[in-house]
Amino acid sequence: MADHAESLAPATQLVALGREPRTPGGQVGAPLVLTSTYHAGGAEGYIRDGNPTWTALEEAIGALEEGEALVLGAGMAAVTAALSLLPHGGVVVASPIGYMGTTTMLRERAAEGALELRIVDTTDVEAVEAALEGADQLWLESPTNPMMELADLPRLCAAARAAGVVTVVDNTFATPLRQRPLTLGADIVLHSGTKYIAGHSDVLLGVLATRADEAGRALRARLAKYRHDVGAVAGPMEAWLALRGLRTLAVRLDRAEANARVIADRLATHTGVARVRYPGSGAMLAFDTVGDGARAERVCESTRLWVHSTSLGAVESQIERRRRYVTEPELVPETLIRLSVGIEDVEDLWRDLAQALDTLL
Ligand SMILES: *Cc1c(COP(=O)(O)O)cnc(C)c1O
Repeated sequence: MADHAESLAPATQLVALGREPRTPGGQVGAPLVLTSTYHAGGAEGYIRDGNPTWTALEEAIGALEEGEALVLGAGMAAVTAALSLLPHGGVVVASPIGYMGTTTMLRERAAEGALELRIVDTTDVEAVEAALEGADQLWLESPTNPMMELADLPRLCAAARAAGVVTVVDNTFATPLRQRPLTLGADIVLHSGTKYIAGHSDVLLGVLATRADEAGRALRARLAKYRHDVGAVAGPMEAWLALRGLRTLAVRLDRAEANARVIADRLATHTGVARVRYPGSGAMLAFDTVGDGARAERVCESTRLWVHSTSLGAVESQIERRRRYVTEPELVPETLIRLSVGIEDVEDLWRDLAQALDTLL
């Protein structure tokens, strides 16, 4: 890593890290290295061991998270890698609400007896503290998908540390520009790089980050071994595209967040909206419509500019009613619509959303 990396502001780290060293005539951008094998005698022998394009992306994201990063083939590969640290029958404390892929996997593995799941409301510090006794991992999202609820990360991470429990924080929604869980006491940070980091709805990628100390490096070595053994690796092209996307994360997020604030304020005054769920920063928000799920679904079908699709964190604005999925827990209202606000002109976004909401009146 460039030795001045830590002194740079995040918006600069995004642009400058992972760049090739200054060599007269040398290329500036990170190389896209497409090879499955390496000449013998170096640190890496085979593609599952490592790749220079991953390393460039890891350098940038590691600095942003104030730790050390590992890129993987998907956010779910990162989830699976973190769960691979558990002993058989290990105890996981987690919220009933969260990214559906993660909560579903936890419930399925608990049903199989591979782990024990303690479901608690992670907005309630005392409830989490009471569940930590004898646990192995605490899984947190803040804000939660799709309810946009916040968890008190410093208090929860401290309680977990005191109980000898490893804390995993899914930081996909906040991005390292709005929240750095390792600095708040988390042991492992997880991202779906598919979302804000890559940012253009064209890549599948995952990221893990751990602290740059002895305990963090020990965790990272186990996670890297999992990546290697399972082949949960990122394609070099995907890593390269994610690094290209990362370069503009600060401007994308600033613009999307400014748009999200305007949309949240205007939604609050619309008579078709019963409740707005916006934590005050970031570009994800949710709202509950008046009426029933079918009418909320019609809102999603009535937009023209907002893309009616799953996923989030891209340049284009996306809209989705989460209970359209049978695996989304019943705690999520039928009428909850999730918005991933993009970087378009906010007046165009509002006009389109308002005409779709008018179908409720
Ligand atoms: C999308 C997502 C994941 C899973 O990531 P993939 O890249 O789709 O495998 C995990 N957590 C959150 C919060 C997500 O939005």
